[in-house]
Amino acid sequence: MATDRHRLARRGPTGERGQHGRGGQLERAAAARIAGVLTERDADRAAHALNALLAECGARPRLSAHDGHGWHLHVDRGDDASWGEWFLAASALALAQILTEYGRVPWGECAADGCRVLYLGTGPGPARRYCSAPCASRSRVAAHRRRLRERRS
Ligand SMILES: [Zn+2]
Repeated sequence: MATDRHRLARRGPTGERGQHGRGGQLERAAAARIAGVLTERDADRAAHALNALLAECGARPRLSAHDGHGWHLHVDRGDDASWGEWFLAASALALAQILTEYGRVPWGECAADGCRVLYLGTGPGPARRYCSAPCASRSRVAAHRRRLRERRS
């Protein structure tokens, strides 16, 4: 999604078409669809969900030089696509590339109690289960205390 980072920055995380009314609803719906994929831990189910999203978006690679930017890759319907359509198509393509690169699902919802943050574990090292180091250590401490309690009882 790096190729489209400028567009995110330009439009902001909620898009310039307004946070209220239909535009805002479409943007929230698009974010919810991607969040749904990010909670899918099974590679086959994630791949089918991404295929469905790409088909729905009419995703077809094309080069665009909109707004004075150099030629870069887009997979949305056209330069007049809404922010929600662009976000869905670009996110689905980025996640599809990550899934094929890793051969597994490297994303998920944080496994720490009470934390529902979605993470993208594309760094080096083993598969992640937590969104952050604080959540990982909080969970380790809780598991340790649980084991101590079990041993005492
Ligand atoms: Zn967390």
